[in-house]
Amino acid sequence: MNNHFILASGNSHKAEEFNELFDTSILQVESAPEKVDVVEDGSTFSENALKKCLGYYKKFKQPVLADDSGLVVGALPDELGIYSARFGGEGLSDKDRAELLLKKMDGIKNREAYFLCVLCFYFGEDEYYFFEGRVHGSIGTEYRGEHGFGYDPVFIPDGLEGKATLAELPDWKKDNSHRAKASKHAQTFFRERDCQKA
Ligand code: IMP
Repeated sequence: MNNHFILASGNSHKAEEFNELFDTSILQVESAPEKVDVVEDGSTFSENALKKCLGYYKKFKQPVLADDSGLVVGALPDELGIYSARFGGEGLSDKDRAELLLKKMDGIKNREAYFLCVLCFYFGEDEYYFFEGRVHGSIGTEYRGEHGFGYDPVFIPDGLEGKATLAELPDWKKDNSHRAKASKHAQTFFRERDCQKA
């Protein structure tokens, strides 16, 4: 059985990224016909993912996948998290934000952080599912690496040799990112669910 979703995002690359993560015989994602503006004013990642699903479902009346993600930094509890994309205010580039984070962390001993991704698969108001993935690590002291995006160049994942940032570990990130983990959970769930239905 195939579960087909439109993606609640204006970013067409994201649909491709998800189709690379999913076994497309189980889960398939395509870009939405057009972007829908959704106010992401929820107080959790899950609330914001659900709000995106509702906005797109209302308009297109098709099953929707939404993701919401961000970087949670232990020493700056109210500054990133669900606000990661807006950290530092309007008009900053990804690099500006990552560098601002390094600056704010200057001299701070507790450097623990994690990336979190919540996926919401929405079939209608009576049926929707959330899946979560995390990558634990720490905030480095310098901006390093060419790959990835966002805060990757300042995030050092736990449990690996050396102190490489996510922006220096593109192959590792593909399989172990917060998005990859949440996607794997979703895929396992839908595979089992479809087997039971068959
Ligand atoms: P979005 O809502 O998934 O587009 O991401 C929210 C914010 O979290 C953006 O500012 C991204 O820079 C940051 N973010 C989410 N996922 C990642 C990642 O895998 N690497 C680096 N930054 C990320």
